Amino acid sequence: MNYYSTNKQAPLATLHKAVVKGLAEDRGLYMPEHIKHLDKGFFDRIGQLSFQETAYAVADAFFGEDVEADALRKIVYDTLSFDCPVKPVTDNIYSLELFHGPTLAFKDVGARFMARLLQYFIRQDGLHEQVNVLVATSGDTGSAVANGFLGVEGIHVYVLYPKGKVSHIQESQFTTLGQNITAIEVDGTFDDCQALVKSAFMDKELNSSMKLTSANSINVARFLPQAFYYFYAYSQMKAMGKANQLVVCVPSGNFGNITAALFGHAMGLPIKRFIAANNANDIFYQYLKTGNYTPKASRQTIANAMDVGAPSNFARILDLYKNSHRQIASLISGATYTDDQIIKAMADCYQQHGYILDPHGACGYQALADQLKQGETGVFCETAHPAKFNETVEKATHADVPIPGRLAAFMKGKKQSVPMRRDFESFKLWLLGSQAQAGHPTETGGSV
Ligand SMILES: *Cc1c(COP(=O)(O)O)cnc(C)c1O
Repeated sequence: MNYYSTNKQAPLATLHKAVVKGLAEDRGLYMPEHIKHLDKGFFDRIGQLSFQETAYAVADAFFGEDVEADALRKIVYDTLSFDCPVKPVTDNIYSLELFHGPTLAFKDVGARFMARLLQYFIRQDGLHEQVNVLVATSGDTGSAVANGFLGVEGIHVYVLYPKGKVSHIQESQFTTLGQNITAIEVDGTFDDCQALVKSAFMDKELNSSMKLTSANSINVARFLPQAFYYFYAYSQMKAMGKANQLVVCVPSGNFGNITAALFGHAMGLPIKRFIAANNANDIFYQYLKTGNYTPKASRQTIANAMDVGAPSNFARILDLYKNSHRQIASLISGATYTDDQIIKAMADCYQQHGYILDPHGACGYQALADQLKQGETGVFCETAHPAKFNETVEKATHADVPIPGRLAAFMKGKKQSVPMRRDFESFKLWLLGSQAQAGHPTETGGSV
């Protein structure tokens, strides 16, 4: 299957190229040329299928033409080594818990799937040279990518993060891993980290001496696998006899997760309508209301993984519905919540129903509580484990939020990171030096 660019000014790409390049030449996002409809038989028996079986059917529809069946099955099964259960919160609101993966947030699935698919293509090329993934992070993306790529042969990951600006929990998830993961602690801001990565991709000398790629969330291999979640949610709701008038609510920032859900809908998944829940960054909410898309600088909130002022996947949503505001607004509603409202949602939900929400999931829950109609059943994504935001959650709910063993283990690990100035020349020299050591970059044990 070929992939076209949302900007329509770049040549069609194979899946292989789309995964390795990430962004099209015209800076547009890749979209598959066709979206396969899954047949009625599949939806009839979906309630009896496991998460892996369901996901494989979906992966086959996306990638089956381009990846051998056995390899694809292995990639899917390896990616989904954990469950995503649906849990009742009220009579008609259910939480889809997407936080049972290695870093306890939903980006784990896309990161792992992409790592495995990239490895498949590298092997197909017979590449013996190391491929280097550069990723800038303000916290959560770095941990998902680092853990997704951990131990994947032939690929080395460099995570650039701003010194002193990520939480201890987040930092421990990508600085304690070792192996093929190198954490780079930049004396600057997240924007400085992103600028270093961008300059690296544009630097001719660097690109001629090392193979560089990104693991950005706009990559088709990172966002499409998130569709698995929605098929599996439907399957669980159907098994409970609750799948009739299903409303799916996705806490959204860059809109990759909800775009994957919309792909599911286009493949025939019987979801009645969607809600995109925003924090105070309400660009999409305003678009639905007015028809005008006006990106802004992002505002800092307590649901910080959704602090996005120019959602990158908006272009994909427009493309899916041929720019029809009418069609988009009839399928998707919006919601926007201030920090105070998010805190109140966490407090109310815990007091009334005993369910602990994280600040992102809280937006999803509240949007359903506010907008669900008679006869509808709602499922919202709980996108991160509440313990990842335990200070905020404990303050709002006065509940004890124990740190899961997996998270505690990260926090006990030894921090290893490379201190880096924020100027590109230092970064470049260091990268070239690390490359000269035959794929064994120096690891300096940084002081905590
Ligand atoms: C990334 C993230 C989101 C937003 O997902 P998008 O795909 O960017 O819309 C929501 N919650 C958490 C916890 C996240 O890490």
